Amino acid sequence: MKKQDMFQVSVEETFSAGHALRGYKGKCENPHGHNYRVQVTLEGPQLDGIGLLVDFTQLKHVMREVIKRLDHQFINDLEPFTKVNPSAENMAKYFYEEVSGQLSGLPPGARVTDVIVWETDTAMAKYCPGA
Ligand SMILES: [Zn+2]
Repeated sequence: MKKQDMFQVSVEETFSAGHALRGYKGKCENPHGHNYRVQVTLEGPQLDGIGLLVDFTQLKHVMREVIKRLDHQFINDLEPFTKVNPSAENMAKYFYEEVSGQLSGLPPGARVTDVIVWETDTAMAKYCPGA
């Protein structure tokens, strides 16, 4: 059987914030900052009436709404990271939940497939929801 055609769209945004990893045995247990980069990827078999899987502008707007809460903040002070450790992994899951909850008007079958959070240029974590 032929695999279904898929379109994939990714958008990136950046922000700066501080965090401290609770329970980490090493220097990351202390407060420090990162210039974070977040990439959200959507996938779907169908485009809308004007040929888009998702409007880049809408996706960026939704991402910026989430980033607004975190930018130039100490992430450990913000829900859910007062309890959930603000690792890149947990932040990727947080972005997935917030962004997929706020996107609307997507064509049938379109969904967020993964979110990547870079803490540095060379270290990233990716969250993919279970099917
Ligand atoms: Zn860190």
